[in-house]
Amino acid sequence: MYKQAKWSEPLVFELGAKERIGINLPEVEEEVKQTVGEIKIPDEIRRKIPPNLPELSEVEVVRHFTRLTQMSYGVDNGPVPLGSCTMKYNPRIAWDIAFNSGISDLHPLQDVKTVQGLLEIMYELQKWLANIVGMDICSLHPAAGAHGELAGVLIIRKYHEIKNQLDKKTEIIIPDSAHGTNPASAAMGGFKVVEIPSAPDGNVDLDALKSVVGESTAGLMITNPSTLGLFEENILEIAKLLHEYDALLYYDGANLNGIMGYARPGDMGFDIAHINIHKTFSSPHGGGGPGAGPVCIKDKLVDPDRNIWLRDLLPGYIVVHDEKTGLFTLKAPGPYSVGLLRSFFANTVPLLWAYTYILIMGPQGLRKATEHAVIITNYFAKLVDGLKGFEIPYGKGRYRKHEIVLSAKPLADETGVTAEDVAKGLLDSGFYAPTIYFPLIVKEALQIEFTESETIENVEKYADRLKEISKTAYNNPDEAKNWPKNTSVGRIDVVKANHPRYISPTWRIYVKRMRGVIQ
Ligand SMILES: *Cc1c(COP(=O)(O)O)cnc(C)c1O
Repeated sequence: MYKQAKWSEPLVFELGAKERIGINLPEVEEEVKQTVGEIKIPDEIRRKIPPNLPELSEVEVVRHFTRLTQMSYGVDNGPVPLGSCTMKYNPRIAWDIAFNSGISDLHPLQDVKTVQGLLEIMYELQKWLANIVGMDICSLHPAAGAHGELAGVLIIRKYHEIKNQLDKKTEIIIPDSAHGTNPASAAMGGFKVVEIPSAPDGNVDLDALKSVVGESTAGLMITNPSTLGLFEENILEIAKLLHEYDALLYYDGANLNGIMGYARPGDMGFDIAHINIHKTFSSPHGGGGPGAGPVCIKDKLVDPDRNIWLRDLLPGYIVVHDEKTGLFTLKAPGPYSVGLLRSFFANTVPLLWAYTYILIMGPQGLRKATEHAVIITNYFAKLVDGLKGFEIPYGKGRYRKHEIVLSAKPLADETGVTAEDVAKGLLDSGFYAPTIYFPLIVKEALQIEFTESETIENVEKYADRLKEISKTAYNNPDEAKNWPKNTSVGRIDVVKANHPRYISPTWRIYVKRMRGVIQ
C-alpha cells in the first residue's frame, strides 16, 4: 500500500541558529581584484540593517529540502499524466549539460566573444526547432508557451499595422477547446476574441467557422492535436479559408509532441508557432517554471515597398552566424520587431535541455517518442473503454494522439463522486492525478497524458486503479469523498487554496498574517 512521508517540517526561516554557517565564500582572487578593482557599493543603496536571512548548517539545509521532497510527488516518483502539460521524464544527461558550470555560470552581459559555445548551441537549436515545426526562423526569446502566444499575437498585430489594416482587423478566432491562455493572449494583444464550437467529431465546427470569418478576422489560434487529443482533420481547409481574408494562422505548440516527426504545423498552413520547450522537449517544469516558448514563423514579405519581412517582426535577440569570421552574434530587435518581451536573450537552461534531448534522440528518436505517446494513449483508451461511470466524449471511434479526455459525468450524476474525487482517489494510491475540469467543453473532465516516458505496466495499473475507484464510488461513495488519506496533506479546501486571503506566497506575508498585521 502507498503511504507518503509526513514531517512536521518548519519553514527554513524557523530553522538554524544565529551565525550558523552552511557555506564559505572564497576570497576574491588577487587577479580579479587587480582587473576589476575593489567593488564599492554606494552608501545610498547599501542596506543599513542586515537582511533577515536564515542561518543554517549544510546538513540542516539538505535535510530540510529532502524532507520536503519526501512530502511531494513528481515524475521521479511515478506517473504524472497531466494532460496538456506533458510531464515527460527529465533525462539526467540533460541535467549534466544544462547545469554545467561552463554554461550556467555565464553572465548575460558578457562579451559575445566569450560565449561563442553557448551561442553556437542556441544557433543550432533555432534551426532544429524551425525544421521540426516546418517554419523558416525561430526566436528563442519568450519564456513560456503563454509568453510565446503573446509574442505571436503581437506579431499578428504588427503585421496588420504595417499593412495599414489594423483598424478593420480586430478579431482573433479561437476554438472552445482552447487553453485559457489563448483567449487571454489575444485579449492582451488588443483583439476581440471570437469563440467557435467544436463539432461532435472533435474537429472545429466548419460551418460555425465560416460564419464568423471575414474582413475583421486578424488571425486564428489553434492547437493541433486539440486538447481532446484529436487531430484537426480540416486544417488545410481552415488555413485556406483564413488566408483568403489575409488572416494569420497561429499554432499553439503545447501539443506538438502528439505529431512531432510525423507532421509539421508549417506544412499545414500555419504562419506562426510557439513551442513549449518544457513540454515536448523534456525540460523540467511545474511550480511556475522556468520554461521556454520559442516562437517560429514562416517568412513572407509583409510590405514590398519597405522590404519588410515577417522575420523582422520576431521578438528579442536572434543568434546570427557570420560565415566569414565564424563568429556568432546576437541580432537586436529592429524597428519592426515586436521588441523585447523580457530581459536579455532567453531562458537558456531549458533550451539547453531541449538541445540535449534532441541530440540524444535524433530524428528517428523524436518520431519514436511520438509513436510511443500515441500508442500508449490508445492502449489506455481501450483499457478504460466502457468503464462504469466514465465516457469518452467527442470523436467517437477515432484514434487519439498524445492524450485522452474522459468524462466522469455519469459517475457524478449516479453516485455524487466527481472528477475531483476521482483525482484524489488516484493520489491516494501513489499516482499523480490527471488534469481535471479541462478542457472546459467536457463536463467532469479528466485529461490524461502519459507521454513516451511511461511504462506499459504503470499504464495498466493506472487503469486498474480507475476501475477500483469506479467500484468504490458505486458501493461506498462516502469513502471516495474523503480521499486522499495516504498523502502527506489530506483533502484541502480548494476554494481557500486559491483565495489570496489564505495564500502566503512569501515569508514576510506569512509572518504578517500570523501577527494579524494583514488579513
Ligand atoms: C501549457 C499550455 C499552454 C501554455 O503554455 P505555458 O508554457 O504553460 O505557458 C497553452 N496551450 C496549451 C494547450 C497548453 O497545454
